[in-house]
Amino acid sequence: MAPSPESTDVLVIGWGLAGLVAAGAAAAAGKRVVIVDQEGRPDLGGQAWWSFGGLFLIDSPEQRRMGVRDSLDLARQDWFGTAGFDRPEDDLPRQWAEAYLDFAAGEKRSWLRQLGVRFFPVVGWAERGGYTATGPGNSVPRFHITWGTGPGVVAPFQEAVEHGERAGRITILPRHRVAVLTVEDGVVVGAEGDVLADSPVPRGAASGREVSGSFTVRAGATIVASGGIGGNQDLVRSQWPARLGTPPAAMLTGVPAYVDGAMLGVAAGAGARVINGDRMWHYVEGIRNWSPVWPDHGIRILPGPSSVWLDATGTRLPSPLFPGFDTLGTLAHLRATGHDHSWFVLSQRIVEKEFTLSGSEQNPDLTGKDIPLLVRSRLGRGAAGPVRAFLDRGADFVVRDTLDALLDGMAALPGGDALDRERARYEIVARDREMGNDFTKDAQIALLRSARAFRGDRLVRTAAPHRILDPGAGPLIAVKLHVLTRKSLGGIHTDLDARALDAHGSPIPGLYAAGEASGFGGGGMHGYRALEGTFLGGCLFSGRAAGRAAARSV
Ligand SMILES: Cc1cc2nc3c(=O)[nH]c(=O)nc-3n(C[C@H](O)[C@H](O)[C@H](O)COP(=O)(O)OP(=O)(O)OC[C@H]3O[C@@H](n4cnc5c(N)ncnc54)[C@H](O)[C@@H]3O)c2cc1C
Repeated sequence: MAPSPESTDVLVIGWGLAGLVAAGAAAAAGKRVVIVDQEGRPDLGGQAWWSFGGLFLIDSPEQRRMGVRDSLDLARQDWFGTAGFDRPEDDLPRQWAEAYLDFAAGEKRSWLRQLGVRFFPVVGWAERGGYTATGPGNSVPRFHITWGTGPGVVAPFQEAVEHGERAGRITILPRHRVAVLTVEDGVVVGAEGDVLADSPVPRGAASGREVSGSFTVRAGATIVASGGIGGNQDLVRSQWPARLGTPPAAMLTGVPAYVDGAMLGVAAGAGARVINGDRMWHYVEGIRNWSPVWPDHGIRILPGPSSVWLDATGTRLPSPLFPGFDTLGTLAHLRATGHDHSWFVLSQRIVEKEFTLSGSEQNPDLTGKDIPLLVRSRLGRGAAGPVRAFLDRGADFVVRDTLDALLDGMAALPGGDALDRERARYEIVARDREMGNDFTKDAQIALLRSARAFRGDRLVRTAAPHRILDPGAGPLIAVKLHVLTRKSLGGIHTDLDARALDAHGSPIPGLYAAGEASGFGGGGMHGYRALEGTFLGGCLFSGRAAGRAAARSV
């Protein structure tokens, strides 16, 4: 016998950050809310829980205290230079970008602070670009790390939802996987799907897919907040754009398996238009997790700018494809090399200062708000604990005292036979030779010196320029890097009220979308590329818009 259908004002599909924010906003507007998610309760918070908690803010007190002069105009210049909007369907994504920039320059920080969110005082400089002023990249540091990382961002929204649950206004249904959006007379009136059997796995681990029943929820408004496609390598490959070459035969997965993209197909089945599916944000500095949680689990190195970047053959990447400068430019370049991997070559001195690993669990000091540990690991001698663990146990790390031994070690790893050792040696020795003067033609070295004019980089992010082969800076380290899937930049086409649009651009009554499922707003507010730290913020902004608009509609 089918269970009796739940009936509610607002149905939210997915309890990631966007879903939590949307549910909280709808409940705050006095509406009854049901949240369904295909996973078990330990996964509440979705990807955001795993995230580093980096948030894009414009002209914040943290920036000003670090001597950074930022402005809405400068950020807009950077955003649009990075996005490269060029499609007719980019009209609403552009409008979302404008609205999001206003949010990031305005109430975003004060709203979060009022909810108890705090920021690490040193602002990070992600996606530095390296082109001209109107090209892609952040002209200034804008990556604000949340004190408590991802769990610190999730906490106030989870608390609000759980408070609503205790008060009887919000119902949370785990292991409920939506298979169909129910459409009656052109109106979305809820969703139907499978109840999945209990499958007690740790947070992030792939859970069972055995079906134990079915469900129906009828709702006045339905919000799709189901995330992107990064956990589904088949989907990533099928949507891989020609401008990024061919998809890698081997890559790592940077998100849990539940980021499966299936719900986007379900939304399309109900008439929603999914746009910009070929715009994705994958990293080129992925390393295999020595302690994997989800299938093919990769971790992203958030690299400081000093490592020498070699392709699989040992040829140095061209300017400005330096670590942390241009994610997709580097990806496109590497895909043209005919190999799936590349290499960082660096010194112990660089790894100590510059290697940060993305993810809440890789930063126990920031995630645990542990100041003594933070001082020891970020300012003390030696690599931070999680980085040390990779140096000791990571399959992609080679640590040796001499260049010959390092090159041998690189060649011995799978795929290492592609390495032309003499070419690699030539590149490293030539780079070091450029250290002889205070001025140089080597753009990376020049940019290192300029980066250290920013106090944050000098303090915790950019090692004092030195010869990689200086024995005093050793041992030498090589890291084999893989492509790592992460974010979908496209998604369900939405207007500024997060209403899902059909193929003609008309709102589908009863249907809303938020977070990564909506390309963080509009179906792709980032355009082709992102400035970083903009995804969590996109979930906050679009989730709130969807929750408020859905509440107004019922
Ligand atoms: C390691 C890591 C580090 C990151 N660091 C940062 C950072 O520093 N800054 C930043 O801005 N961003 C970062 N991100 C990206 C950011 O965390 C995500 O883009 C964002 O959290 C996505 O949230 P969401 O709510 O849209 O979707 P998700 O968190 O993916 O949640 C979607 C939910 O929907 C559920 N679902 C899907 N389909 C169905 C269905 N059919 N039925 C029922 N439920 C369904 C899923 O189970 C899931 O729980 C990081 C991500 C990761 C993984």
